[in-house]
Amino acid sequence: GTRALSDPKLFRQQCYVDGAWVDADGGATIAVDNPSTGDVLGTVPKMGAAETRRAIEAAEAALPAWRARTAKERSQILRRWFDLMMANQEDLAAIMTAEQGKPLAESKGEIAYAASFIEWFAEEGKRTYGDVIPAHGTDKRIVVIKQPVGVCAAITPWNFPAAMITRKAGPALAAGCTMVLKPASQTPFSALALCELAERAGVPKGVLSCVTGSATEIGGEMTSNPIVRKVTFTGSTEIGKLLLEQCARTVKKTSMELGGNAPFIVFDDADLEPAVKGAIASKYRNAGQTCVCANRILVQDGIYDAFVKRLAEAVSGMKVGDGFKEGTVIGPLIDSKAVAKVEEHVEDALAKGAKVVTGGKRASLGGSFFEPTVLADTTPDMKIFREETFGPVAPIFRFKTEEEAIRLANDTEFGLASYFYGRDIGRVWRVAEALDYGIVGINEGIISTEIAPFGGVKESGLGREGSHYGIDDYLEIKYLCMGGI
Ligand code: ADP
Repeated sequence: GTRALSDPKLFRQQCYVDGAWVDADGGATIAVDNPSTGDVLGTVPKMGAAETRRAIEAAEAALPAWRARTAKERSQILRRWFDLMMANQEDLAAIMTAEQGKPLAESKGEIAYAASFIEWFAEEGKRTYGDVIPAHGTDKRIVVIKQPVGVCAAITPWNFPAAMITRKAGPALAAGCTMVLKPASQTPFSALALCELAERAGVPKGVLSCVTGSATEIGGEMTSNPIVRKVTFTGSTEIGKLLLEQCARTVKKTSMELGGNAPFIVFDDADLEPAVKGAIASKYRNAGQTCVCANRILVQDGIYDAFVKRLAEAVSGMKVGDGFKEGTVIGPLIDSKAVAKVEEHVEDALAKGAKVVTGGKRASLGGSFFEPTVLADTTPDMKIFREETFGPVAPIFRFKTEEEAIRLANDTEFGLASYFYGRDIGRVWRVAEALDYGIVGINEGIISTEIAPFGGVKESGLGREGSHYGIDDYLEIKYLCMGGI
């Protein structure tokens, strides 16, 4: 279930703090396993508040020199980091598949996607222009400058072990901020490999540190330490709310990429094959474990039966297996808790009248593998409509009118990604404007790219990542009022 690396030094089992590779005080560790085989891959330090505080203090010490560099100097270092990520794409992908389970081709894709944020922000960092505002008096001039927020703390999830880090570290470092990172305990090796490459690229000591270990202790220190000016988080809405509460005490800036409950609407006039293809891409990528995965597929009456049939045909041919195995498209879920939730959603739906069209149970491979599943005749009273399933299950709901589709789509506290397929140009505009979501895929199932703003409304979060907007989250606006001219 693993693969030899061409550069074994990328597999780091220590944390990176203030430019040094270190263990936890007292030497405690946590084991990291391969979700496909259950084999232990290695250990990482189990750090807590004390080590986190030192990393934060190192970030504070490194800040003046880092922000004083020219944007171009920072850009050149980031560009080298991007180049190193791409040069080591195979090894980084192998580390990812080993600790996360996703098929190797998806891991390679994620490394390229992750690296693209470093490349993008290396460029954007040079364009954090200010403003000159026509003054309100002849003796005055008004100038607006943008400055780095300062020391940032990042907490990232296991579903995209590399991209969720670079999407934060890229704009932060480009803007002149320093950062302490806590990756998910399930996928720390991808994070530590990125730190190794950052070091080789010339990121100065203290500018980027990485601590692994206790989420509550590390998170507690990150959210309470007054040195930290910003906390950026990707993960569940539940933990996001907790972090927001904790950050309130020292009024930190926050960026929150939280849960979703994406609707995927198919109107009668949609092109059937592209809609099926889009649904598969959106639903089954990463075994359904992304916050933009289609969670509720809403299909209009006239095309419902044809859509269900075609989707089920395509899904029943998907290969479940170890991510290193040629041809695998669905890897394991991250752990047994994840499988239990998926199973609970399916059982609840079946008890309330849904039908299994394909899949519907744990895969014969055992472990945390689940069959890619299509459920028909699902209804809004089911858990699968209300909660994010985070697994390879497509529930298909039936609707009659455009108004009903919009009402169902917006009937959730979440508002991250949404999708719809249809050809009527008037409806395309109406529906796109009516969806209460930060992202709308129109006749398109894959919306992630470094050049566009990613983020949610409602309880899906605060702020945007990627695009020219993404760097604003790491900049403060300062207004200079010059008088006596
Ligand atoms: P998921 O359900 O996707 O695992 P979580 O929100 O539980 O999402 O976790 C995302 C990240 O938040 C992980 O790095 C995890 O370790 C961290 N985390 C979990 N609980 C806390 C907490 N109480 N304080 C700070 N970070 C936490």
